[in-house]
Amino acid sequence: MLLLKSKYLLTEPDTVIDNGAVLIDDGKIKFAGRFEDINKHESYRIVDLGNSAIVPGLINTHTHLELTHLHNRISYNGDFTDWIKQIIIAKEPWTEHEYVSSIRDGITRSLEAGTTTIADINRNGLALDVLTKSKIRKILFYEIIDFNPDSAESTIDNYKREINGIGNDRLLSLGIYPHTPYTVSKELYKRCKRVSEELGIHIATHVSETNDEIEFLTRGTGKIISLLKDRDMLNNWSYPGLRPIEYLSNMGFLKSECILVHCNYITEEEIDVIRMSGSSIVFCPRSHKYLGHKNHPFCKFIKHGINVALGTDSLASNDSLSILDEMKYLYEKHKDVRPQDILHMGTAAGAIALRMKDKIGRLMPGFDADIAAIKLPEERASNVFDGIFSQGSECIFTVVSGSVCYDKYGLNKE
Ligand SMILES: [Zn+2]
Repeated sequence: MLLLKSKYLLTEPDTVIDNGAVLIDDGKIKFAGRFEDINKHESYRIVDLGNSAIVPGLINTHTHLELTHLHNRISYNGDFTDWIKQIIIAKEPWTEHEYVSSIRDGITRSLEAGTTTIADINRNGLALDVLTKSKIRKILFYEIIDFNPDSAESTIDNYKREINGIGNDRLLSLGIYPHTPYTVSKELYKRCKRVSEELGIHIATHVSETNDEIEFLTRGTGKIISLLKDRDMLNNWSYPGLRPIEYLSNMGFLKSECILVHCNYITEEEIDVIRMSGSSIVFCPRSHKYLGHKNHPFCKFIKHGINVALGTDSLASNDSLSILDEMKYLYEKHKDVRPQDILHMGTAAGAIALRMKDKIGRLMPGFDADIAAIKLPEERASNVFDGIFSQGSECIFTVVSGSVCYDKYGLNKE
């Protein structure tokens, strides 16, 4: 057994324990509480994490690891459609090897940042092998793109063939990811929903990310029209005249919970629709800023009882794949939000969105041992959250399902 001890332990955001300890046995948490309360007769190896806070492993509820190697290679000039085009062009010459090494690098960066679970969006299962072999917990969302309603059936058949034989394992579960309301036809969205229900797999989509998307759906005009025309994807499309959430709701996509990524521009009526569906929203704070959006309504969503989790999105619109960095950014910018609520968004809220709330996201006996240790800066902080979210803090130790995946200072001496 392995015992982690540290100056602070946060079993969940509102429970801060001084001189804390977590005992790990066979991949699960056996004890989490005060070090002095641990049964001293049991035999275990101790890793002393010193001036750190042990927290639940961080959960990145939205990322595209395959784009890791696009870091600093795409410039954003204020035109979202142009940014998408740049990504498509940059990836075009990539070999399979380049995709795979980009994904592998993304996994390493995630573990080094204290992330223990990732919801990764990927195409064609290229990531499957490298993700399966990695020690991180993952939900592999297959990205579905096809705007031609006539091929909806065959696209779904291909997806089913692709995932056939892939079983969920201890650290891997599957999902389906219809890309956006402007790259996936209504017919295909409906089929994705049906497949997710039939197979009991996760489903998520990017939605209401830009005003271009809203213009495209409500009026059938704007930059997205030319993007689709350029790629010969427009067919005989006629616009629905609905806002994105209304559109998804009308086709039955929101009749049960799913994960809605971004939701940057949402009306009061749409908030009600999302709340009633029981869906979670994923907010990607620094990507949101990078792409020039202002004032994400996440506080409003939370007030309405909607679960809001955090994502980094990809390195094509961010500087790191670190949920800790996302939380630091929110802590700095939103003094009106309780730090406990920020930590909740980076941990338990992700577990709720990914339907794993009784397994990860908190440090409770019987839960899987997904744990991160954040080293606090030496100068005294007025409270533990000031320390965790200060610029000088860093993740030094990451455990997924009981196995040590990152140990910056070599503290785990067998
Ligand atoms: Zn995304």
